[in-house]
Amino acid sequence: MRLLRGAEKVLPSAFRTPHHMKMRIVCISDTHLVHRDGEFSIPDGDLLIHAGDATYHGTQEEIREFNAWFAALPHANKIFVAGNHDWGFQLHPEQSRAKLAPSIIYLQDSETTVDGLRIYGSPWQPQFGLWAFNLERGSPLRERWQQIPTGVDVLITHGPPFGILDRTLSGRHVGCRDLHAEITTRIKPRLHVFGHIHEDAGRHEQDGIMFINACNVDLTYRLAHQPFVVDLP
Ligand code: 5GP
Ligand code: MN
Ligand code: MN
Repeated sequence: MRLLRGAEKVLPSAFRTPHHMKMRIVCISDTHLVHRDGEFSIPDGDLLIHAGDATYHGTQEEIREFNAWFAALPHANKIFVAGNHDWGFQLHPEQSRAKLAPSIIYLQDSETTVDGLRIYGSPWQPQFGLWAFNLERGSPLRERWQQIPTGVDVLITHGPPFGILDRTLSGRHVGCRDLHAEITTRIKPRLHVFGHIHEDAGRHEQDGIMFINACNVDLTYRLAHQPFVVDLP
């Protein structure tokens, strides 16, 4: 038998990073208080991500109700990013954030780390009517996306990037072009979770990035899709 020396030493496979060391990420979005119907079951996982539109009008009462449901879910790590319906987080940020249980990480143009994964969240989306966290297309949105650090593993936004799971019923792509450009040329996260366009929920892999439109409800705000589950090595 040949003796192994120095750099030649190879650890038996049982001592290397095991292949089963994956983080199970459960993605939900646009839940619009649909848990009231009682048919919404969330699979277990290491991390639960909510990409916004937890409420209808974002009142303090609705935020309290959302929190009671979300905080009771058993996932060890939970992240929430607001959507255009979640007005309270824009109008009364301190009061609204204080309604969330300490176990919930709220991200608004900010970053957190969960088990070594760098995760960044942002609620802004292109102007459409008069809604919370709306911004004009072009430089106002572009400046937000430019704040996202390079090296982020998981990106959460409420709105989709242009051209990816962003088609409305009329067939128009309504995602943000600047978000798409920033993601594909600079940020290159491993996973991008968003929602907002209810009728284009799904997943799409492109250039090593997994995109998930995690919307759970349809255009009538009724439960239509179960949560998406991703295992990230
Ligand atoms: P929500 O009001 O829950 O944010 O969005 C519900 C629906 O509004 C979406 O599924 C989509 O049909 C429509 N919607 C949201 N944002 C836009 C947009 O920027 N442009 C268009 N045409 N429709 C949108
Ligand atoms: Mn929605
Ligand atoms: Mn929305």
